[in-house]
Amino acid sequence: MSKSKVFMVSTENIFRDDSLIDRLESLWNDENVGLSEWIKPNEIVIIKTHFGSRNQTRHLRPMYIRKVVDLVREAGGIPWVCEGVGLGWDEANKELTMSNGPGFLNLGNQHGINTGSMNAPVIMDDGVIGTEVFKVKNENGKYIQDVAVAMGLKIADKTIILSRFKGHDGAGFGGALKQLGIGCVGKEGKGGAHFGGGHNIHVKNPDNCTACGKCIRICPTQCLSLDENNKIVHDADNCIACLMCFAKCHYGIKPEEMEERQVFARKKRVPSVEQVERMMDNAAGVVKGVGEDRLRYINIAIDITSHCDCATAGGNLLVPDLGIFYSEDPIAIDQACVDLVTQSPGMPKSPAETGIKAPMATIDPIPEAMEAGAEKLGLFSIWVDEESRPIITESQLSSAHAQGLGSREYELIDLTPKKD
Ligand code: SF4
Ligand code: SF4
Repeated sequence: MSKSKVFMVSTENIFRDDSLIDRLESLWNDENVGLSEWIKPNEIVIIKTHFGSRNQTRHLRPMYIRKVVDLVREAGGIPWVCEGVGLGWDEANKELTMSNGPGFLNLGNQHGINTGSMNAPVIMDDGVIGTEVFKVKNENGKYIQDVAVAMGLKIADKTIILSRFKGHDGAGFGGALKQLGIGCVGKEGKGGAHFGGGHNIHVKNPDNCTACGKCIRICPTQCLSLDENNKIVHDADNCIACLMCFAKCHYGIKPEEMEERQVFARKKRVPSVEQVERMMDNAAGVVKGVGEDRLRYINIAIDITSHCDCATAGGNLLVPDLGIFYSEDPIAIDQACVDLVTQSPGMPKSPAETGIKAPMATIDPIPEAMEAGAEKLGLFSIWVDEESRPIITESQLSSAHAQGLGSREYELIDLTPKKD
């Protein structure tokens, strides 16, 4: 496959009245980038981003999102800022939760991302609880052939995937590809990628069921019922692993009682390599369902932590800020960011300085379900040398390539304004 173009502006030599926001604008307006021409008058343009999680301090700062909103509008488009609902195990967070749309919108509000600050609608692209999707067949999917793509992406004319590039505890790194494979699918797709689908949800302590009916009410696929003894029955064939029952069932129970009284259980995560392969099955379905000509990718590679936006942990930054990247190819843009992070010096007092062992020992939880040799997978896997580059980072890129999502060969075009 030929080399894909990746454009960038770096953070180097920014001083006085220069800024990375200005550089984002100059990147956007470069004649070789062509984003303004890609957007046609009155087209709805989704800016799909991540709002972060409760009390997270390293999420994408709202000013970057707002700048993209303004640029879309200047190009004649109608911008919508979108997020997708997360899986439903964090009911305890109540109003600041990723498990339902209103909670996620509140979370965006906490982080300064709302209709007022954005000057555009800020909405969930997959509905109130993440089930508003359209199905796309991906016959080449290794595990997932029926991909549940967020409905908003069908309605919009164009979608810009706007990501903070960072590490990820289960996927090695998070950027454009992960936004496609997790961020742009509904709960069903997220459950399929993380837990392997409905057969991994099971009734663990049926005797603890009080027949309150909350799970039955909330289950989006009506796959729960009570038997003649008022015990819960689960139809695994129709379960989409959304975890809404899981969240509702321990509602009101003290955390220390959860394990004992929780009726529903999920098996642990699928091994990480399988997880990223499942993610890329989803990603291929999203690109197929939306159309590659209707998708573009911007990675904001600053505040690069070992953890994703979905984790509360912020932590010290792994490497110095890199800048902003743009491409039409989701693999090429992520590959360029992985390569530049890998080549970068580590930041003092960050996990990069201590290598992968210390963080793996101290950060929760190293999933027991990871396959033998988990230490090689590395929660902080983007910051290691080529020789020991962990399996998981490589797996994300290679499985994306196997799904035909783009090229791992790229031409990096640096558009950073030159200073005298
Ligand atoms: S929410 Fe829990 S206790 Fe209530 S009916 Fe469902 S399984 Fe039983
Ligand atoms: S039983 Fe229903 S609510 Fe629970 S995970 Fe399955 S689909 Fe979701």
